[in-house]
Amino acid sequence: MWKKYRTALELLQAIIVTGLPFVTVNGESALRFDIPTLKLHLFGSVIWMREFYLVLAAALFFLLLISFVTIILGRVWCGWLCPQTVLLDFGEGLATLFGKKLARKVEKLLPILLSALVSLTMIWYFIPPAETFRALFVSPTITTFFLVLWAVVSLELAFLGRKFCMSICPYAMLQNLFFDKDTLIIEYDVSRERDCMKCDACVKVCPVGIDIKQGLSTACIACAECIDACVEKTARKHIPPFPNYKGKILRPKTFWLGGAAAVAASTLLVLIWSRPAVDFLVTRDNATLPSGLNRYSYSIHNNSGEERMLELSSPDMVTLLGEHTLRLKPFSAIHGRILVKANGKLEHLHLTISGRSISINREAGFL
Ligand code: SF4
Ligand code: SF4
Repeated sequence: MWKKYRTALELLQAIIVTGLPFVTVNGESALRFDIPTLKLHLFGSVIWMREFYLVLAAALFFLLLISFVTIILGRVWCGWLCPQTVLLDFGEGLATLFGKKLARKVEKLLPILLSALVSLTMIWYFIPPAETFRALFVSPTITTFFLVLWAVVSLELAFLGRKFCMSICPYAMLQNLFFDKDTLIIEYDVSRERDCMKCDACVKVCPVGIDIKQGLSTACIACAECIDACVEKTARKHIPPFPNYKGKILRPKTFWLGGAAAVAASTLLVLIWSRPAVDFLVTRDNATLPSGLNRYSYSIHNNSGEERMLELSSPDMVTLLGEHTLRLKPFSAIHGRILVKANGKLEHLHLTISGRSISINREAGFL
């Protein structure tokens, strides 16, 4: 009953997570954090780590989203979407295709193969897939990362598996803080206990090995396997299963928490999309230089997927000594220095960068 929906959602999650690094917007991965330049490519836009307010807004959105999902839907993430659960479910599901005799061996072997894909997928969120394939077993850094991640994920799946959800996962430990009396959980109907056939089919299928008849356990990942197993027994008697979903999805908290998460998401999007295509910062360096000569450091960030040719100039009576014409690749930044010689008395320097549909002026002191 629930299994087919869960498998469909798990498949969708696996396709999205594995496929997203291959999707490009404005010539860049849809979602990728570039470590050398400390910038996050996000669906055709770029977030620089210096833009702390955006990082903060994103953190606030995720906090609200996690609170909303957990308080209203309980451990739906753990049982239906968590990559750990998806991997283990895939491993078990694929193993059953090999028949009873081989199933056990295949179940042990498959996580090793799946872990290699997990390792590659993790790298793709930092290095574009095409570059990863070119550098794999050529670049010592990428090869080491791939092998170490592969080993760690394989060992974790082989030796911890579902135990990870019960004992180590920090999100699982937070459940007690988030749950309230109306949170969606899976509960055994104690009021009908006398009719229960005590067949323990619900216990045998439980991936974390708990007995739902004993009451709600913090180890339960809300996968609904026990409901499906019980339905097979109770359907013959035309009675509802004993374990079942319990909770209120539509209630005031759903709307205000969901609304707060939606507002945070919209604010984040507005902040990202309303930024200028090019950012220009100038500061005067405290360097000891001959009178009438000042040195300035500048940073120019190209927030767009368009290559830009920019000209550095000043409307003041000065001479700029340094590179004037700057080429910025899409989503790149330039940090440079320029010497400025005043051709008269000057208190403030104005610097301008201009290019196609761009003209930004900045002011800095002149000594
Ligand atoms: S599967 Fe259903 S009927 Fe069988 S023991 Fe579990 S709750 Fe009772
Ligand atoms: S008790 Fe039921 S819902 Fe909870 S983990 Fe076990 S099978 Fe899944």
